[in-house]
Amino acid sequence: MRPFSSLTPAEVRAWVADAGQPAYRAEQLLRWFYRSPAGSFEAMATLPAGLRERLAAEFTFSTLAPVHVSRADDGETLKYLFRLADGELLESVCMHYPHHAASSERTTVCLSTQVGCAVRCPFCATGLGGLKRNMETAEVVDQVLEVCRAELRRGRGAPPGGGRVSHLVYMGMGEPLHNDGATLASVLRFTDPAALGLGVRRVTVSTSGVVPAIGALAREGGGVNLAVSLHAPVDGLRDQLVPLNRRWPVAEVVEAADGYSRVTGRRVSYEYVMLRGVNDGDALADDLGRLLRRRLAHVNLIPYNPIPGDPYQSSSKSRIDAFRKRVEAAGVACTVRDTRGRRIDAACGQLRAEALAGTVALIPDAAVRSGA
Ligand code: SAH
Ligand code: SF4
Repeated sequence: MRPFSSLTPAEVRAWVADAGQPAYRAEQLLRWFYRSPAGSFEAMATLPAGLRERLAAEFTFSTLAPVHVSRADDGETLKYLFRLADGELLESVCMHYPHHAASSERTTVCLSTQVGCAVRCPFCATGLGGLKRNMETAEVVDQVLEVCRAELRRGRGAPPGGGRVSHLVYMGMGEPLHNDGATLASVLRFTDPAALGLGVRRVTVSTSGVVPAIGALAREGGGVNLAVSLHAPVDGLRDQLVPLNRRWPVAEVVEAADGYSRVTGRRVSYEYVMLRGVNDGDALADDLGRLLRRRLAHVNLIPYNPIPGDPYQSSSKSRIDAFRKRVEAAGVACTVRDTRGRRIDAACGQLRAEALAGTVALIPDAAVRSGA
């Protein structure tokens, strides 16, 4: 059986026409699938029973099942562990911000594109285990839909959010641009008005610097936000922290990001994880400022989220603040990311690593769905 989410809205319309149904049934079906809490074709109450049966006979409703949910931040952060059909595990995090900037609330899902990651950044839980496999487009889409449905069922954020997921960030497990086909297809689905319908400004793809794929995303991605994981402004150090730098060094990555800005008109965000005594010194802040000034760029400093067994520590709050001020003094906008989800191990890949090590109990799908 094919996953239903492997179909684009145009393919859904063609399938419905083939099934001898009027065109409005396709729009109903798409609304049920992408924008309702329904957890099966059977539950799509306004569709004729015969059509629901045909759908169930031909398509898998979801390619993954939740096996664990952790809560933190007074229930405002939920971390989902999903099991894929072949038994692999993946993570997605949902962060609810009730009073984000001047009262507009937002709900952000952090999603995965690969099981594991081949880049192997030494401070990242996902990278430590290497790459298991790419996720299919349907799996990338389904993880977000599972979280969206759970949010709608929880009825979170009544008005104005209405329990709807408002933002997506490709910052979970994996390097999105090493799986660029599924990344691009899922971006188009999430931003398609007939599917999830999020504005492109609400979607952010984060990359460790796969230069050729940045160009393709610029041309075909509709102008989503791009985040580049820089972590060091000079090659020697970046070779260590982001091993992909040996293939595409700092200058090429920044040039590709400039190209992204030129094509899309969008400001690029540079991610910089703050590792004590490694990349947080004044001289590097000055290098970073020199590298990015006069570019359409913004720096986001990320406090390091410690991984059991790795050698790094987070920079102190005062060091992070001093670093931020130096970068700003060079004329580059610089902010510090909040540490949402730290208590439930929200850095990518950590929950999966614990599940694989047997230190997290997995609960049956049905118990998770009923909120047990
Ligand atoms: N592979 C992509 C996207 C997933 S990682 C990338 O690297 O950009 C998303 C972000 O989380 C990256 O900026 C990454 O460097 C950061 N990250 C990874 N491990 C972390 C940790 N232990 N603490 C803080 N940030 C981390
Ligand atoms: Fe891969 Fe990103 Fe983790 Fe580096 S930080 S290992 S690129 S997921």
